[in-house]
Amino acid sequence: MNDKIWLSSPHMGESEFENVKEAFETNWIAPLGPHVDGFERDLASFLGEGVHVAALSSGTAALHLALILLGVGAGDEVICQSMTFSASANPIAYQGATPVFVDSEEETWNMSPEHLEAAIQDRMAKGKKPKAIIVVHLYGMPAQMDCIIPIADRYEIPVVEDAAEALGSSYKGQKLGTFGAMSILSFNGNKIITTSGGGALVSKNEEWIRKSRFLATQARDAAPHYQHSHIGYNYRMSNVCAGIGRGQMEVLTQRVAKRRSNYTFYKEAFANIEAIRFADEPTEDYYSNRWLSTVLIEGAITREDIRLHLEKDNIETRPLWKPMHLQPIFAGVPFYGDGTSERLFEKGLCLPSGSNLAEADLERVAAQLKGLFQ
Ligand SMILES: *Cc1c(COP(=O)(O)O)cnc(C)c1O
Repeated sequence: MNDKIWLSSPHMGESEFENVKEAFETNWIAPLGPHVDGFERDLASFLGEGVHVAALSSGTAALHLALILLGVGAGDEVICQSMTFSASANPIAYQGATPVFVDSEEETWNMSPEHLEAAIQDRMAKGKKPKAIIVVHLYGMPAQMDCIIPIADRYEIPVVEDAAEALGSSYKGQKLGTFGAMSILSFNGNKIITTSGGGALVSKNEEWIRKSRFLATQARDAAPHYQHSHIGYNYRMSNVCAGIGRGQMEVLTQRVAKRRSNYTFYKEAFANIEAIRFADEPTEDYYSNRWLSTVLIEGAITREDIRLHLEKDNIETRPLWKPMHLQPIFAGVPFYGDGTSERLFEKGLCLPSGSNLAEADLERVAAQLKGLFQ
């Protein structure tokens, strides 16, 4: 059996292990410490725009705190991109609120501005103004922020930007993760950089970030004894994990460059196969980190044929995210769209995309895939 080629596996640089050792040597083995503060500073300075950052235990925790800070509660509605990972939508349910799902558009595969506005108008006509809009940048591709932000502003609904897959991407020169009233990042093991598991909440509003740190450490009031006037959470990032994160920040730019070169490799390798379509950046305004290289498969050979064929050679691929409005857990919740995300799901495939893939790995994927089309 050939060696396994993973979809997206962790890729450590030079300093991660040194930082972890330092955490051990100084006994900062806790969900606070100098690496946590340092990682927050590294992220804030990378993102720019004057943002503040709270390092947390996961991207999901960051989304949950964002919704709490925006006052989302039982009976509220929150608009969310349908085509995404379930973690984008689950925190809505944690708060006892109802998601309202919005379809994707063809160019970026992200939230359709047209269906977003239709959803807002219809929910308001039905008597409920949505409390927030969760926009996702799938696979690192920026959503159409120039259309989405003005719509959100017009109806005065805050945008929560799910940039879990999009660290290192930018739109019109501005880093993703700085567009939302609040934005979230993920450092799960499969993301472009990882802390083994972790996330961050990002905002220009320092008060929100201060409050998120308070809520993430069990909401302890300032008192010598344990005194609580809010429900708290245990959502802070460990100092050991943050040490890994600091090392990963040193190589982030290289990771983005390699992931983008994976995409270019596939595009050139399959240039002559008409059935394989690529999702290019729509204009120069869009800069994707190419977290995953994704393709659409048209014609007689299906994406499932390809997935099973590559699996036989120990190569991991995955269908695109299955839209949330098609998921059993969200059966019956409102959806606004035209079937675009369903079509993308049926045809779309994620190819091996790790920044640690060797040239020979990419060649092996290309050879196997081309073989199927001959
Ligand atoms: C990974 C991911 C998350 C969740 O992040 P975790 O750190 O795994 O909790 C949320 N949204 C999207 C789009 C993701 O890909």
